[in-house]
Amino acid sequence: MIPKTADYPTARLIEVFSAIQGEGLNVGTRQIFIRFAICDLRCHFCDSAHTWLAPDKCSVELTPGQRDFETHSNPVPSQVLLEWIQRQNQPGLHDSISLTGGEPLLHAPFLVKFLPALRHSTGLPVYLETGGHRPEQLAPILPFLDSVGMDMKLPSVSGEQRWKAHGEFLQLCHDSQVDSFVKLIISSQTEPSELEQAAELVAAVSPAIPVFLQPVTPLPMPHHLPVFAPTPAQVLEWQALMKRSLKQVRVVPQTHKMLDQL
Ligand code: SF4
Repeated sequence: MIPKTADYPTARLIEVFSAIQGEGLNVGTRQIFIRFAICDLRCHFCDSAHTWLAPDKCSVELTPGQRDFETHSNPVPSQVLLEWIQRQNQPGLHDSISLTGGEPLLHAPFLVKFLPALRHSTGLPVYLETGGHRPEQLAPILPFLDSVGMDMKLPSVSGEQRWKAHGEFLQLCHDSQVDSFVKLIISSQTEPSELEQAAELVAAVSPAIPVFLQPVTPLPMPHHLPVFAPTPAQVLEWQALMKRSLKQVRVVPQTHKMLDQL
């Protein structure tokens, strides 16, 4: 018997669209983005504060890159989301699918059921963009991921402190041999001692894990005091500091902001 839409698992979404990835290891590649609603963190630099709570509606792009959005009700059944992704998946256009947010791992029960079907129907690699603080939710979906970008939180910049969870999370990624990297947002207020702590944490798992230092993009911060970008001298000093214990430390600002993309 064919299941009814009501029988499929559901998730609350913000938007689905096609764009050029502007951060981390996949920078410059074309992705289908599934932006999940809800986040349990409150980073000072957050440029996605509209994702923190679950809205009644979500936006779905009809044609890849055209920003011709339709509005649909939340929550969205997995089968409906799959149809939206299949419509976006024009031959040869996309390199991978990005699960972003918000915090996608707050939807882990949905992802466990959705990701096998997503991989089967699109043939595209799946990339998870996460705060990297929920190892328990990561474990069951790791078999369905191709790469993980973990946003390690520096207390002096983000206001969040998650060292223990970050260590467990990164170890899980490494043990599963999924491609993973760490992203650290740096600002003029970054404490070098926290960068040293982050470098030690990554090196304890593997010194070969790539780390991206991402200078914060100064934005209006309605929920917090402004956060300022680091100076060029700070960036040079901090990269050198982290390279004492790590093999790959790259400095890459958010390129999608330069391209004036979503
Ligand atoms: S984890 Fe991401 S979405 Fe959540 S508050 Fe931090 S930057 Fe914003």
